[in-house]
Formats: sequence, C-alpha cells, structure tokens
Amino acid sequence: MYSDVSKIFDTVEDISRTITREDADITDKLAKWPERSLRKLQQEGLAGLTVPLECGGLGHGAQVLAQVCETLGQQCASTAICYGMHCVGSAVIASKVTDYQQEKYLTPICEGNHLTSLSLSEAGSGAHFYLPQTRMQYSSEHEYKINGAKSFVTNGSKADSYVVSAVAEGSSMPGEQFNCVMIKGETEGLTWDKEWKGLGLRGNSSRNLELNAVKISDNDILGQFGDQIWYVFNVITPYFLAAMAGAYLGVAKSAIDEATQHIKNRQFSFNGRSLASSSVIQYQLGCLWAKYSRTRALVHHATECYDNNDDNSLVELFSAKAEVANAVVEIVNESMTLCGGVAYREGSKLDRLLRDARASHVMSPTTEILRIWTGRSLLDQPLLTDT
Ligand SMILES: Cc1cc2nc3c(=O)[nH]c(=O)nc-3n(C[C@H](O)[C@H](O)[C@H](O)COP(=O)(O)OP(=O)(O)OC[C@H]3O[C@@H](n4cnc5c(N)ncnc54)[C@H](O)[C@@H]3O)c2cc1C
Repeated sequence: MYSDVSKIFDTVEDISRTITREDADITDKLAKWPERSLRKLQQEGLAGLTVPLECGGLGHGAQVLAQVCETLGQQCASTAICYGMHCVGSAVIASKVTDYQQEKYLTPICEGNHLTSLSLSEAGSGAHFYLPQTRMQYSSEHEYKINGAKSFVTNGSKADSYVVSAVAEGSSMPGEQFNCVMIKGETEGLTWDKEWKGLGLRGNSSRNLELNAVKISDNDILGQFGDQIWYVFNVITPYFLAAMAGAYLGVAKSAIDEATQHIKNRQFSFNGRSLASSSVIQYQLGCLWAKYSRTRALVHHATECYDNNDDNSLVELFSAKAEVANAVVEIVNESMTLCGGVAYREGSKLDRLLRDARASHVMSPTTEILRIWTGRSLLDQPLLTDT
C-alpha cells in the first residue's frame, strides 16, 4: 500500500489538514479524545507504522514516526500524542514478539483494528517512569495477577490494549525484575479514574488506572524476565522521544505560522504601515524560525542515528527532545507576543498551543531527566541511579 514513504506523508498530510484540523478546537474545548483522526489513520493503513515489515507493518522507525507526529502536531497536539503513543506501544510489542502476541496484538494493529498505548508512569515514581511499583504475582500455572496504580495513561480507557510495566513480587531491587506485559482493555480488574481534564493536550484521555488482581497469562509477558532495561533504552525511550519531539515541533511550527499570518495581516491606520515592515518584528520572527529549524534538524539527525543503530544515538535523542521542549515553549510564548493582544484571549489558537506546549517538559523522559542522562552518558556514569 505504501511502497514509498512519501505516500505515507501525503496521506498523513491529507488527514491532518482535513479531519484533524476540523476537530482540533472541539478536541481542546470538550477534552474529547480525537477519535475521528485516529480511526482514519487506522483505516488508511497507518496503524502499523513502526511495526516491522515481517510482522505485517510498514517497517518504519523513529525518524518517520517523528515526521508523522510533526504533521499531526501542526493541527492538533492531542492527536499527535495519542497516535504517537500507539506507535510506541506497537514498536515495544514488535521488538520481541511471540507467535501468540503477533496474532493477538500485532496483526490486528496492522489491520487497523486494534489500538494500543503505554501505561508506565505511577504517582510513586513520577518522572522515574522506569521504576514501577505495580506488582506482578505468580498465581497459578501460566497465570499472574497484577496489582497497582498507573497515572496519565494516554488513550486511557479508549485503547484495546496497554503495555503495562510491573515488578515481579519478591524482587528486592526495583527495576531488576520489572517487565512489560500486555493487558487488554476489557480485562476484569481495571478501574479508570475520572476523565482527563488537562491544562493542555486535553484530547489525550490521559487517565489514571487502578489494577486490582488483573489476571494475565504468561503469553502476555513481553520478552524475558529482567528485560526491563533493554526495553527502556532500546525501544520505549527512543520511540517516546521521537513521537514527542515530532509532536511538539508541529506545535512550534503552527505557532510560527500563526505569528507570520498575523504580522502580514496587521495594518496600522495611524501611519498606513504593516507590522511586517518593522525590522524589529522581522528580526524576531527570523530568530524564532532559526530556533525551530535547528531544533528540527537535531530531531532528524537524532532519529536517523537511532534508526541506523549509531552508538551515540541515545544521547542525541535525549538532547533533541530536551531542546524541542525548550524551543516549543519559547516559540509559542514569543509568537503570542508577536500577535499582540488579539492572541491573548481565551479560545485563540495560541491559547491552545501555549497550553499544549507546556506538557513537553513534564512528559517522560522529562527535560531534567534527559539532561541528567546526557551528562551521565558523557561522564560514563550509570544512567539509572536514584538521585
Ligand atoms: C499529558 C500527559 C500525557 C502523559 N502520557 C503518558 C502515557 O501515555 N504513559 C505514561 O506512562 N505516562 C504518561 N504521562 C506521564 C509522564 O510521562 C510523566 O511520568 C509524568 O508527567 C511525571 O509526572 P510527575 O507529576 O509524577 O512528576 P515528578 O516526578 O513529581 O517530577 C516533577 C518535576 O521534577 C523533576 N524531577 C523529578 N525527579 C528528579 C530528579 N531526581 N532530578 C531532577 N529533576 C527531577 C521532573 O523532571 C519534573 O519536572 C503523561 C503525562 C502527561 C502530563
């Protein structure tokens, strides 16, 4: 269907310029999960974007994911993040897939009939999303019970399955026996907390989840016991970073477009001149463009390094997402200034973009954690310590 990657970009562009754009205001105002766009992406054969060809997917990596999320993020950050989290989850499942998991999860994902998501974060470990306290207890032959509480599960209560992290009961070191497991959305014992009403990313449905004696079979365990660090640094973090970096680049580009449009249209009757003729404004817009453009280049470079298995690709990705978070907040903020008082009102597009942009720093891996990991990598220090 998509022999050429440019066809993927064209299809995503079509969807984002029509359905995603039309629904963006309602998604934000009503905190409504962006179902129409997500279903259309599934129908158009884009749900297996990050699933390898041999598993029935489109076989793309972090770079294409970032570009697709950027296109969606230009119209609606919630749509970009909801789709992005599905693609991260799909890549996690695919990375060590068994025949059972292929049939239960990956094939339906690639056929556009199954949406997945990631459920890692917990109140108890916050930004340290790789340290779950959710417990996984051996209950009988081939069966485990999961107990715990997850927070901010994007696509929460809407997805067909969730990639959930849990520590095997009895393990003394947090992290040492943490595993990723698959839990289907309709499984008994899952209780969703109240609906997500975020400041931004209001369509995300990033809800809290309680797991009470949730039964899974050993077929639903991803990889082997003790694979946790492998998953965190080989798949989860790189794809998380690519999806988020792309989505927030889209938000930044959208803010620059708003500012550019406003500057071009703003005419002063007192002197008959346009705001576009001011050198100061031209200079400011030029600075914002450079910030966007160089950050975008960094994301493309980092994701390409990851897809090519370059040795230092993780450090590149850590810095790229941290830079995107800084850039998007600054670009949207400054764009609002360039648009003057008209942008500073409830319901303006920049109002939404400013709220959406703010989540970039706090979505894991957070900016602080990424900077610390970068420093540790450069200093040959272990990445995961509890300080
Ligand atoms: C809109 C949204 C969507 C999300 N979607 C998902 C999802 O789909 N799946 C999922 O698993 N999670 C998701 N999350 C959770 C997210 O990834 C983070 O895990 C969560 O936001 C961390 O929040 P916290 O409030 O517990 O932060 P805290 O851990 O309380 O951290 C507060 C601040 O302190 C900083 N900090 C914490 N520890 C340190 C330290 N040791 N050194 C320096 N700085 C530190 C953090 O960087 C942060 O800025 C989402 C969050 C949001 C807001």
